[in-house]
Amino acid sequence: MVETLFLAGADAFRINMSHADHGTLTTCHDMIRQVEQRHSRPIGILVDLQGPKLRIGEFATDEVTIEAGREFVLDDDPAPGDASRVHLPHPEIFAAVHVGDQLLLNDGRVRLSITHVEPGRIVTRVIHGGVLSARKGVNLPDTVVPLAALTEKDRENLEYACQLGVDWIALSFVQRPDDVAAARKLVRGRAGVLAKIEKPSALQSLREIIELSDALMVARGDLGVELPLEAVPGWQKRITRAARRAGKPVVIATQMLESMIENPAPTRAEVSDVATAVFEGADAIMLSAESAAGKWPKEAVMTMDRIAQNVESDPNYRGIIESQLETRPEPTSADAISAAARSIASTLKVACIVSYTSSGSTGQRISRERPEVPILALSPKIATARRLSIAWGLHCVLSGDPDDLDDMVERACRIAFQEGFAAIGDRVLITCGVPLGTPGTTNMLRLADIRPDAARKEPPQPELL
Ligand code: PEP
Repeated sequence: MVETLFLAGADAFRINMSHADHGTLTTCHDMIRQVEQRHSRPIGILVDLQGPKLRIGEFATDEVTIEAGREFVLDDDPAPGDASRVHLPHPEIFAAVHVGDQLLLNDGRVRLSITHVEPGRIVTRVIHGGVLSARKGVNLPDTVVPLAALTEKDRENLEYACQLGVDWIALSFVQRPDDVAAARKLVRGRAGVLAKIEKPSALQSLREIIELSDALMVARGDLGVELPLEAVPGWQKRITRAARRAGKPVVIATQMLESMIENPAPTRAEVSDVATAVFEGADAIMLSAESAAGKWPKEAVMTMDRIAQNVESDPNYRGIIESQLETRPEPTSADAISAAARSIASTLKVACIVSYTSSGSTGQRISRERPEVPILALSPKIATARRLSIAWGLHCVLSGDPDDLDDMVERACRIAFQEGFAAIGDRVLITCGVPLGTPGTTNMLRLADIRPDAARKEPPQPELL
């Protein structure tokens, strides 16, 4: 199935540690790497840490019904609960909440308003009642919860995943910039750090969180519990634009094709939702239950792929994506070269931009420009090629450092031709850094024509065999 999904258009796979242990993670990782080797194409692996998910305790019966207008208490007594009270096994919460704060249970289905707080006891008024059972999730949209974003289990999973060599570590329930900084210290550059934006408190310091992160996710599942649902689309646009401005990949996630869990075709509204994310310039669109547990995983990936391709060839796409482009190049040579590459590619109608990128940074800065033509990113590092799998418009190929400028042009033309991005007689635009093979030196633009010798076969790159 991993191979089927890859062939259907998947560029990266998420492994959600809310549902996986080390054994499952290892099995999934190994399967993905096997597919990667079979097809000689880098594939991204994103490990999503569970984070500090809050839950209530047990009830004396399987289910209880909480009635609107009544009082409901959450306390520190581990005794099984009933329709009037339940254990809250998170002592930190009692000191953090305030009268008037909302407390949501079971993905926001049960809504409580806090009326009184004392040590070990939170008294609430039920605003929306409903059915509760053991260990349902708790959301506190109005409260900064004094919990680190990484639990002990997250730390173990992070270390294990980094040792396996995954490409991205996603942090759940990020509340403050410090949460990202703490994860960065543990990851130590072994993977990219992606901050999932799903807490209102993260929205207050979005700029700083983006600065510290390598990528973002608009995690609409929990965001939609903690914010009024109608506020989510606006925040999706703001987060997407802020991430694009910073040149950090942004993933739009959750319920994108929800009905495809059961059905082979999506609803019109779902197609429109996926299309909106692509029109907005999102780097990646993600499936959750549709591919993890649904009946139509292949069809769901193919549907997303078709929508993305369709939107990107829509006559309005360019206008929309450029009207949102509030990006100015930063005063670095990589940004100046990237902006120039975008402009030259558009003026000369080149077939593609070929970018030599060792760390992936130049590839990402060109991607930030959202040029009109595909970007072929050539990197000598497999970790870079895999990490760039979630970035907009990049097709990554593993390629060693060129020997000299002639070899640099020859390689770029050959790979552009062989990967199907340019035909004989087309022109490509190459970015690279001189001296060659020195990371962080992008300082050169070169136009080259694809000559017939680009069709010459070279042995495949050993690293992906
Ligand atoms: C989300 O909440 O939207 C999300 C992506 O996180 P998870 O799938 O872990 O709930």
